[in-house]
Amino acid sequence: MLTCSKVNLSLAVTAKRPDGYHDLDSLFYPFRNPSDEITLKDAPAASGVTIRCDAPGVPLEPEKNLCGKAVYAYCKAAGMNVPGLVIHLEKHIPVAAGMGGGSADCATVLRLLQERFHALSQEQLEVTAFSLGADVPFFLNPRPSHVTGAGERIVPVDGLPERLPLLLAAPQFPVSAAWAYQHMDLARAVAEPPRTNELIDALRSLDYESAAQFMRNDLEHALFDKFPLLVLLRRFLLENGALRVMVSGSGPTLLALFRDDAAAQAAYARADAEFDPSVRFILPA
Ligand code: ATP
Repeated sequence: MLTCSKVNLSLAVTAKRPDGYHDLDSLFYPFRNPSDEITLKDAPAASGVTIRCDAPGVPLEPEKNLCGKAVYAYCKAAGMNVPGLVIHLEKHIPVAAGMGGGSADCATVLRLLQERFHALSQEQLEVTAFSLGADVPFFLNPRPSHVTGAGERIVPVDGLPERLPLLLAAPQFPVSAAWAYQHMDLARAVAEPPRTNELIDALRSLDYESAAQFMRNDLEHALFDKFPLLVLLRRFLLENGALRVMVSGSGPTLLALFRDDAAAQAAYARADAEFDPSVRFILPA
């Protein structure tokens, strides 16, 4: 099964919760490409869960890999013994990049197990997903969504364009979501009310100039302070026609919004020629 990836077209942090999570007000937008591919194969029960994956930075121990964690959590919620399984994970979504790759893999394994065993109700599946990570419930049914709470309140948003004139720039270094949240300016974030509904209206009317004004990521200031490459990339993209350049999720991937697809493609061609392969440019679809 193919997974999706996502960007946050806006990510406003509205509060810090006693459980350590943050409350968000965010517009999640999924892509079919880039995606990972996951297959499950049966194995003898005694051999437990095995993860096969070639990508660097992805743990293979099933207790650490989000695919393995999904199997354990599903079986625990269903009161089942853990079956013997080999999970093949073909990774294309940049790792620890703010594009939700691990969360997408995790949700996809939950969906595959549910297809096989039908052992949980939809509500149990959603609760299990949330217990595995704040972004996991979104990937149970990825569609453009206004997400609040810590990620568990998901309202699908209709009427957004099927495709947005976006270019992604993914530098090949990881940023942990925990680091990004620890270094954010919480007081500054909560002082500014979210404008997600205005962003949604602007996107629905294909008014990208206005949409650019409402895009926001409260985690990005710490990333631009720490990583000069991101400042350089942002400047390059703005000089090459981007209306707005912002960090996605907890970064370091940047998303750049353009006037139209042609402008995004022209910037892609120039960026790909200008930067070395340590930055991956992606026209998401
Ligand atoms: P999110 O938006 O869900 O926080 P992200 O893109 O910032 O995602 P991930 O790619 O999900 O980050 O990876 C975060 C960390 O999780 C990685 O550093 C990696 O060690 C660990 N990890 C565990 N399982 C996976 C997996 N299946 N794919 C990618 N990373 C995984």
